[in-house]
Amino acid sequence: MIIIMLGAPGTGKGTIAGILTKELGIPQVSTGDIFRKHIKEQTELGKLAEKYISNGKLVPDDVTIGLVENRLKEPDVQNGIILDGFPRTVKQAEELDKMLEKDGKQVDLVVNLTTPEDEIIERIVNRRICPNCKAVYNLILNPPKQEGICDKCGEKLVQRKDDNKETVKQRFNSYIEQTSPLVDYYNKKGNLYSAVVSKSINKLGKDVAEDVLKYIKEGK
Ligand code: ADP
Ligand code: ZN
Repeated sequence: MIIIMLGAPGTGKGTIAGILTKELGIPQVSTGDIFRKHIKEQTELGKLAEKYISNGKLVPDDVTIGLVENRLKEPDVQNGIILDGFPRTVKQAEELDKMLEKDGKQVDLVVNLTTPEDEIIERIVNRRICPNCKAVYNLILNPPKQEGICDKCGEKLVQRKDDNKETVKQRFNSYIEQTSPLVDYYNKKGNLYSAVVSKSINKLGKDVAEDVLKYIKEGK
């Protein structure tokens, strides 16, 4: 099964993908995580990606598409994948379709998440992540049991460099301009599942993950 997580930054793509990956037993691949690993190791790709990411801009399509194309060839994703943060442009979506088509595959489900803009900012500035196991926390909505420490693996939590008020605005603009057309793109293909993630309706990532699992299991 091939699942795509779509949504503005801070809507909970990674959190929901993390739950789905466990329940469905298929790997989660986050392009953001791959870029952050390259930045940490200061590879050529990392140095290039950092320039864009630190400004809240998307990494250029040719770079990102090449990266995903190689990742899709690896054995662990042959039976399914949860793509978290890819595609983010129409070009990426078209190229993904072509790659999958070559293998007789297709996108099975696109989980489209929306959250009110003011909540997004609040979610992002309060987000903390585990650099080891990639667990995501929120100081207000989903705090770790022990302050600053990952519940799952005991690692010290960190704040992503791009998780600040200034960058988030640009990231949101990039989403509106470049990524949001994908809602229409996938809606036309008929494989879009849309959900609102918002505290105002008591729906956080884990609630939406449950809904998605139910939707998948009840058959479509
Ligand atoms: P978020 O969804 O919270 O913004 P991600 O970890 O998915 O976080 O992405 C972090 C950054 O990595 C993005 O702001 C962007 O600069 C870059 N990035 C991730 N995925 C892509 C992609 N598919 N295309 C271009 N840039 C990407
Ligand atoms: Zn951890």
